[in-house]
Amino acid sequence: MSTRAREYAAQVIRRERLSEHFIRLVLGGDGLAGFASTGIPDEWVGLVVPGQFQSRYYTVRSWDGSELVLDVVVHDHGLVTEWAQRDVVGETVTVTEPKGSFALPDGAGWLLLVGDLTGLPAMARIRETVGLPTRVWVESPEIVEDYLPAGAEVAWSTPPSDDASHLATVVEGIDWPEGEGYFWMAGESAQMRAIRKHLMRERRLPSSAYDVMGYWRGGATRQPRAVDPGPLWRAGKAAGKSDEEIWADYDRAAGSD
Ligand SMILES: Cc1cc2nc3c(=O)[nH]c(=O)nc-3n(C[C@H](O)[C@H](O)[C@H](O)COP(=O)(O)OP(=O)(O)OC[C@H]3O[C@@H](n4cnc5c(N)ncnc54)[C@H](O)[C@@H]3O)c2cc1C
Repeated sequence: MSTRAREYAAQVIRRERLSEHFIRLVLGGDGLAGFASTGIPDEWVGLVVPGQFQSRYYTVRSWDGSELVLDVVVHDHGLVTEWAQRDVVGETVTVTEPKGSFALPDGAGWLLLVGDLTGLPAMARIRETVGLPTRVWVESPEIVEDYLPAGAEVAWSTPPSDDASHLATVVEGIDWPEGEGYFWMAGESAQMRAIRKHLMRERRLPSSAYDVMGYWRGGATRQPRAVDPGPLWRAGKAAGKSDEEIWADYDRAAGSD
């Protein structure tokens, strides 16, 4: 079985600045014919921008059958960061078929979502899709007004410095609801590994009760290897691995172990 994801050539048809750090790119065009959502609310695509070969991964904020919306966080420097800050309307990019990993267990009665700004598009879409009582923690240098659908209890916090995060402290301080639910989190990879260990060892959660994803790698002086989570995900699922095992494989493949 091939693990290579299908690719689509898409045009940037609109570009909108949502906030200081957030740029919305709306992709469209005939090249997206055949593109289909998985329906999994944290689904992502690989994005290759003109003149580049390496992918970066972005959440499908929405897909209505003709327009694919990606919300891109622009940080200090970076391949997509720098590209997205130009007027890129009319340019052609490549996107891969989407994959998702959010897997709500049967019987879940609540949802906890934690992440930095890069996780916000997925958290918004999860909130839009799942009608359970939801609490959200966002660590971000700015509050992005009206981005998250109403109805969730949301706590915004500011990272203590440019290269630090207190998401681990946020998670350790959570007052967990009674009964069964689901915990979803995304952020910097090394921190996510530590948080997975915390959930597994301290909270003793079964891997089916959480999904913690490394979305980007900090502290690299050299560009980290870009690894498409899609093939690893499919291969892992085919081999009967848990989400936990698959994301650990991903961290290893990306060289962050
Ligand atoms: C499944 C998945 C879904 C994702 N969804 C989104 C999404 O919807 N929106 C989004 O913006 N990002 C999302 N990301 C994260 C995004 O892929 C990374 O942040 C990516 O590295 C950005 O690429 P770049 O070319 O701008 O920077 P790169 O060229 O990859 O990195 C350049 C430098 O910037 C640092 N860096 C990278 N990302 C960040 C960051 N977020 N904050 C601070 N420093 C950073 C790196 O450590 C590196 O030193 C997702 C990642 C995954 C795996």
